[in-house]
Amino acid sequence: MEQTLSIIKPDAVAKNVVGKILSRFEEAGLRIAVTKKIQLSQADAEAFYAVHSERPFFGDLVEFMISGPVIVTVLEGEDAMAKNRDLMGATNPKEAAAGTIRADFAESIDANAVHGSDSVENATDEINFFFAQREIC
Ligand code: GDP
Repeated sequence: MEQTLSIIKPDAVAKNVVGKILSRFEEAGLRIAVTKKIQLSQADAEAFYAVHSERPFFGDLVEFMISGPVIVTVLEGEDAMAKNRDLMGATNPKEAAAGTIRADFAESIDANAVHGSDSVENATDEINFFFAQREIC
């Protein structure tokens, strides 16, 4: 079974739509292997998004990700990475297909409700960033 990492970002947590978003994963056949609510530190956010450190939006991205708590979840199922990316919709909510999480719950490219691993290799690294193996079951 494939695993992928989802983060419900501070905007969606503040809107109180955590349950609605987690339901979408389950309704699509993905299983929640583990989930937790955490407040990222600046160092956490900078390390997690290190791949974007040279991009002009890096500072805004880090500031946004530490603006409130997030929900970090390991999703499990067949094609979990791609399935989650389909459920999320395009990075810019204005371009996200109708019925996707970002179309329904996000406001802007900064406050875009969810993160999802974009490859199976990155998923493994991102899962290990947040969870010990014994927590995932
Ligand atoms: P994702 O995989 O769809 O989340 O997109 P990326 O990995 O390309 O980017 C990571 C996050 O950085 C996105 O979810 C956005 O919140 C933010 N981001 C990406 N591109 C831009 C941009 O051009 N401008 C701004 N302000 N934020 C961006």
